[in-house]
Amino acid sequence: MVFMASVSVLLAFLIFLAVAYSDYKNVQIGELFSDLRLLSSFDGDYSVLQFKDRRLTVIAPDGTVLYDSMVGGELENHASRPEVSDAFAYGSGYEMRRSTTVLENMLYAAILSSDGNVIRLSRATSSIYAYILGMVPPLLFLLLLVIVLSAFISLRISRIICEPINSIDLEHPAESGRLYDELAPLARRIEHQNAEISGHLRSLERDKNEFALITGGMKDGFMVVRRGGAVVSMNGAAKRLLGKNPGEEFTSILEIGRYPEFFTILEGGAVDSKMDVGGRVLEIRSELVEDIGSAVFIFDVSEKEALDRKEREFVQNVSHELRTPITSISGYSELIASGTADNEHVTEFSRLINKEAVRLARLIDDILDLSRLESVPADEFSGVDLETVAADVASSFSGRNLELVSESPVRVSGRSDLIFEAVYNLVDNAFKYNRNDNPVTILVSGTSISVSDRGIGLSPEDRQRVFDRFYRVDKSRSRETGGTGLGLSIVKRIADMHGADISISSTLGEGTVITISFRPI
Ligand code: ADP
Repeated sequence: MVFMASVSVLLAFLIFLAVAYSDYKNVQIGELFSDLRLLSSFDGDYSVLQFKDRRLTVIAPDGTVLYDSMVGGELENHASRPEVSDAFAYGSGYEMRRSTTVLENMLYAAILSSDGNVIRLSRATSSIYAYILGMVPPLLFLLLLVIVLSAFISLRISRIICEPINSIDLEHPAESGRLYDELAPLARRIEHQNAEISGHLRSLERDKNEFALITGGMKDGFMVVRRGGAVVSMNGAAKRLLGKNPGEEFTSILEIGRYPEFFTILEGGAVDSKMDVGGRVLEIRSELVEDIGSAVFIFDVSEKEALDRKEREFVQNVSHELRTPITSISGYSELIASGTADNEHVTEFSRLINKEAVRLARLIDDILDLSRLESVPADEFSGVDLETVAADVASSFSGRNLELVSESPVRVSGRSDLIFEAVYNLVDNAFKYNRNDNPVTILVSGTSISVSDRGIGLSPEDRQRVFDRFYRVDKSRSRETGGTGLGLSIVKRIADMHGADISISSTLGEGTVITISFRPI
């Protein structure tokens, strides 16, 4: 505004100067001509006339200067001076130029006088400039005034415009008191955008809650990690699996732990490996998600790993257990076949071969039993009378020192053939690991059934392990009695299938009581 006002004033000033200059020049020329007209009627000697600031020149038709009021002596021919030639040609003429005679800017006016000469009056133009210069100070003052006023007004106006804008309450623009009409569309727009933004925020919040609900309900760990390691999201399962409290928050993945896998994720690499955390085996997998970073999944595979290990051990054990009797059988049969054994040894070797073959068959039976038990459906369960099962087992051991005691038996849910098999195995063991043909007792009490002997007993350490497949306390004794190390594994498996508890109480050298407690129907 200040610039525009200053430019306008300056332009007006220049135009004014141009007009004033031209007017002033015309006035001066007019004055010179009216003086010339007076002079043309003067027929005396010009030298008697006084010219204060003017110069009179009289020029003959051939251009010779007859008289000059300012310069005495010879002057050059003036015929070619434009005002002179004009005066001779048209009766009058004028011009403004620099005089080569007096060396000043001059205004010339000439007329043809009645005697045929041209008289010319001239005056210095410096008076025009003095006139114009005299106008500069008031104009400068005016310019200054305009600058100050326009600066003041523009400041006031910008304040009037801006203050209401600055004081707008961006949350509720329409309620800002000092709004003027032109601001109403802006206020409405802000109001509209506020509504849109809060709508977006609400839906973001909803999405976030949904996301947290979904990931929070997962049993597997889930994290979103930015390249560089910033943790964007981490569900409860991930915290639990990595041994952290549910309330803990982490800004960087390295705050959780300095696992090598975390460094790979942090660098934006993909991970698919297993790591040991607090005694558990975790499988960690990361997927790269464009523009976000990595989605990291954590699975607890401890049980699967333990099962796999058990499976491997089982296969190793089975092949080992099968190889032992087969080696014996092939060894003895080779001796017989080669004819190196005498008759007495042939009988002995044949008996041993038969014994190993029976053991082999029992081993295979037990292994098949175990694998068969893996796939017995629970819906085949029905009411089982433990007393009847116990009586059936007892009759299988008729002629042995076995007693059956029953105290208020209760029917249980299960499969009687499997319960029979479990109790049979327990009684078989009780006789195998008995001493001096002590009696073995089957006690049915409520929903539990126990088999007790007064045999060799089990140490506390062995009690922990006797249910493991192929575990035998004394391998040679077990081998002697034809044991496979699978009997109690089968019992445990049957108990597990029935949801029953199994317990051992035993004292070395005194005897053992193994109890299976079933659930009532
Ligand atoms: P096995 O076929 O060798 O008897 P089991 O799985 O039935 O295999 O038993 C595992 C081991 O537990 C046996 O080798 C034996 O050492 C021990 N055991 C089982 N029952 C008894 C018992 N009643 N008294 C003492 N030791 C026992």
